[in-house]
Amino acid sequence: MIDTHAHLNYPDIQKNLPDILKRAEDNGISKIIIPATDIKSSREIIELIEKHDMLYGAVGIHPTELKDFNENDLNEIEELCISNKIAAIGEIGLDYYWKPYDKALEQHVLKSQLQIAKRNNLPVILHNRESSEDLMQLIIDEYENGKLKGQFHSFSGDLQIAKKCIEMGFYISFTGNLTYKPNEKTLTAIEIVKNIPLEHFLLETDTPYLPPVPYRGKQNEPSYVIHTAQKIAELKNTTIEEVGRVTSLNAERLYKI
Ligand SMILES: [Zn+2]
Repeated sequence: MIDTHAHLNYPDIQKNLPDILKRAEDNGISKIIIPATDIKSSREIIELIEKHDMLYGAVGIHPTELKDFNENDLNEIEELCISNKIAAIGEIGLDYYWKPYDKALEQHVLKSQLQIAKRNNLPVILHNRESSEDLMQLIIDEYENGKLKGQFHSFSGDLQIAKKCIEMGFYISFTGNLTYKPNEKTLTAIEIVKNIPLEHFLLETDTPYLPPVPYRGKQNEPSYVIHTAQKIAELKNTTIEEVGRVTSLNAERLYKI
């Protein structure tokens, strides 16, 4: 299996990284992608992925990390994205939840990074929090008939939005929240998993956040992705092996890893 989204660069994970990677391998996780959130983490991730075969990275500026944004940061992302084992621009997107937010600035930084991705033929890892409408509009504007590709991570739209995403060739993923007790959000996620073919899904943990049942309240880690995969297998009436096989092919195809 491939965990397409784990923030393994965070300091409290760094100190246990050898054990975390060992447990991942022992549970059949062969590759992990580490998304960046700002310039500093982009640089750190490039160093980190050089040290471990199974790790790949993304560089980018997250919409909640714009406090000290400087136009030159975009040039730096474009320089960093050609590094070895950098598989994507991410995570990037819109976030209208954490206050204060500046919608115009978030949209400018997202649009610029979508263009960097297209110029460098890289996919994007998209973050969306309470911003589905604006995010979809920007993606549709920049899509240009397949030139833009990527992953809607921790997908939070409804089935109709999910269908639009896959129609454009994008992939969708859910975190451990898919395993939580049914509430409005998980029920929508379950409906999407049931109605969209496996060929459009990726696996992710969003480590250290959103651990699946039975690890709620603990720090998430890539080895736990098997619980989300198991849940997808149940919902789709298939085996966890099949979920692993198809989603890994999807990740390899999208990220060229
Ligand atoms: Zn993330």
